[in-house]
Amino acid sequence: MTDRDPECLFCRIAAGEIPSDRVHEDDDVIAFRDIAPRAPTHVLVIPRRHIADAHALTDDDAELLAKLFAVVRRVADAEGLERGYRVVTNVGPESGQTVFHLHLHLLGGRPMAWPPG
Ligand code: AMP
Repeated sequence: MTDRDPECLFCRIAAGEIPSDRVHEDDDVIAFRDIAPRAPTHVLVIPRRHIADAHALTDDDAELLAKLFAVVRRVADAEGLERGYRVVTNVGPESGQTVFHLHLHLLGGRPMAWPPG
């Protein structure tokens, strides 16, 4: 598997070629604020490595998946989301996925409706 897709927006953000408002970065994971926030806190947590979506994860990615959720927890704590928050990942066009690089939406700071649209 290639680690990077030069055409991928989020690979380019991870590489620093496109600016982003980062709230976390380490060797494997970065988190940055969504450019069109749908909640007072709307952060995208992504692996640096190019993975198209959650459906493309394999057993070998178990550690990476744990790291992604550890960053979700860290950002939620930093944002003061003790009342709760939502983690969403869209998979495929029908779900509404528009950027085909795995990302967890961390949404919080307002009440959330259920079910989502
Ligand atoms: P999805 O529709 O689940 O694929 O989510 C893609 C998200 O990326 C959307 O919420 C967009 O607002 C967000 N987005 C697109 N371009 C950028 C960007 N340059 N910086 C930050 N967020 C972005």
